[in-house]
Amino acid sequence: MKYRTPSGRVDVTGSHFTCTGTNMEAKLKELRQKLEKQCQINQELQNENRNLETRLKEKDKLLEELQCRFVGLDHLSQRNSNDSVEVRQNRAAVMAPEPIPEDMDISSTRVKKTISEKAQIMKAMQKNDFLSRLEEEQINMMVELLVCLDRCPGDEVIKEGTEGDSLYIVAAGELQVTQAGRHLRTLTSGDVFGELAILYNCKRTASVKAVTPVKLWCIERQIYRSIMAIKSKHKRAQLMGFLKTARTFNSLSNEQLSNIIDAMEEVKFQDNEVIVREGAEGDTFYIILNGEVQVTKIVNGQQKVIRKMGQGDYFGELALIREILRTATCTALGAVTCFAIDKEAFEETIPIESLELHDDADLLENPHPLKKDSSVSSLQFKDLVPVLYQEGRYQGSPVTLGLGGFGRVELVTTLQYGKYFALKKISKKFVVEKKQENHVLFERKLLLDIECDFIVRLHATFKDSRYIYMVMDFCSGGEIWTKLKEARRFEENIAVFIAGCVVEAYAYLHKKDIMYRDLKPENLMLDTRGYIKLVDFGFAKKLQRGQKTYSFCGTPEYMAPEIIQNQGHDFAADFWSLGILIYELLAGSPPFSSSEPQNIYSKILDAVIKYPPHIGEAAKSLIGKLCRPRPGQRLGNTRNGIKDVRNHRWFNNMNWPKLRMRQISAPTVKLIRKGPCYINFDCFPFDKSQAEEEFSGWDRDF
Ligand code: ATP
Ligand code: MG
Repeated sequence: MKYRTPSGRVDVTGSHFTCTGTNMEAKLKELRQKLEKQCQINQELQNENRNLETRLKEKDKLLEELQCRFVGLDHLSQRNSNDSVEVRQNRAAVMAPEPIPEDMDISSTRVKKTISEKAQIMKAMQKNDFLSRLEEEQINMMVELLVCLDRCPGDEVIKEGTEGDSLYIVAAGELQVTQAGRHLRTLTSGDVFGELAILYNCKRTASVKAVTPVKLWCIERQIYRSIMAIKSKHKRAQLMGFLKTARTFNSLSNEQLSNIIDAMEEVKFQDNEVIVREGAEGDTFYIILNGEVQVTKIVNGQQKVIRKMGQGDYFGELALIREILRTATCTALGAVTCFAIDKEAFEETIPIESLELHDDADLLENPHPLKKDSSVSSLQFKDLVPVLYQEGRYQGSPVTLGLGGFGRVELVTTLQYGKYFALKKISKKFVVEKKQENHVLFERKLLLDIECDFIVRLHATFKDSRYIYMVMDFCSGGEIWTKLKEARRFEENIAVFIAGCVVEAYAYLHKKDIMYRDLKPENLMLDTRGYIKLVDFGFAKKLQRGQKTYSFCGTPEYMAPEIIQNQGHDFAADFWSLGILIYELLAGSPPFSSSEPQNIYSKILDAVIKYPPHIGEAAKSLIGKLCRPRPGQRLGNTRNGIKDVRNHRWFNNMNWPKLRMRQISAPTVKLIRKGPCYINFDCFPFDKSQAEEEFSGWDRDF
């Protein structure tokens, strides 16, 4: 019999035959004890191993979960496994009209709360995926504005299918969430519900009823949005005032100053934190928004206090212009908030050599004279004949080319000209219900005034008691959206061509001070030659340079962060959506997507873009620069304007003048199917119902 000793050597028991019997027994006992001890140690080690393994596994799982949640990259992997789970099928555009008055009294809308109430609200908001991503100031404002509501058991707080106008936080009590009568979950103290309503008048997807007596914190969208807009405006005006006192910016226009503000970022410092240190290389300019900063300098080897600075003071101006070493140390006295911009961002915003912003978009204004088609200017409504689906030898129902949030677009022709047109038909009643009168009137005015090869041409408009009608060029190649779904994703040269056409359309519109605000593959149509035309100007808006607008509009996946945060937006939002478009064309789905709009918004605010491996370096660089969170740092909105986009290396092979002259043979042609004129469109069932009549007269000028 052999035993292995702890030291590993082999002892042969029984070989000590010279030993006495008792001696032997004692020896054996000792050995047995040693062996038992060793077994016990082994067992413990094994247990520990197992324990470690489980913990490792748990950690891996947690890591995976965290990655999915925070990096927002889950859609890429999920797309492969289950397409329909994470990606919204219907990407209708959403809109909340301009917030109200300039003169709203903020103080009257504040509701006093105890410290513990505030803490409870804060905690609830931090727990909520979407709300927790809002900026500190927005969260604080919301806490101030929430009002208290009491509800009795059985009271319905939210009714499924209605339009939402408020967000709620449960302060006490229990509520039940149901969908189509089915119990979904129970809400208790600290739960948030209806948060999407803070952005726009979304449809409620479930009902919420009080089970016990409940106390709720509630805020209406209109109040929140108005106040945020007013606050943003005040903040900009304040910053503008500060910037105007800086010597270096003396000769800059309001628009240029506004661009600087857009490129600036808020930075916070703690008590005693050194903001800039004497002798260090400096590249950042700071304006103090809140708090006090102490300036010190080393004199004869000793730190000497020179002065103190407060709100509106600025430092580091020179660092924007030349390479400098800091000549003093600035330290925060208590908490300090500054607005800052570094040299690189500043140079991208303001040209140091010449302060005049110029663009080569002149060339675009009239690349070659485009005359309105005179043959159709005398078009009459009665001349329009619906084109019907051909079913074998029989004729089917009228062809519908597309359905949008506002109307139906049908294919029509005229007997005398034999030309096809797309007829957009919008219910007047629906327009009034959605308060979109001004948008529709503006869409008409704008399109009638546009002469650009990359934008659909509007030939005539009509109205009757139920509808308004817009007669447009028929883009026979179909929607880029449909083509993208068929191809799954586009080859790079196709994406470059499509994006190039959009850049030209943007150059034309922005030159006329028009923002487009609804870029997405659904609104890009192909004409017979495969050239892109922008359709749907429902959200377009004229905006003076240097101004901001505060409406919440666009398609969630394509919305810029400043729109979601209600900070005021401008032309830069169009460049953000160009980045999203390029990504979607190359990847097949947009970078920030989810089945739930609020998750999309959270991902946009995080702004972390994960690229599939086949997307090349140049494309990534362009998308990254277009999708910079700060509007002032976004390519296209930097100092050379849209030129910087055209000059990006992803467009190296693009011959821009030739594109403008339509002299390039479009690679998109191969996406267009041959056959009946509606072959490139999805089939839509005919809608026999008629919209209600509407006589308020808003469409007088239509
Ligand atoms: P949205 O919900 O995007 O605001 P909308 O009601 O304003 O939609 P449009 O986007 O203008 O409507 O049009 C809806 C669809 O009709 C388009 O996505 C497209 O498929 C089709 N369509 C629009 N204009 C044309 C056109 N000129 N030629 C061919 N099809 C068109
Ligand atoms: Mg559309």
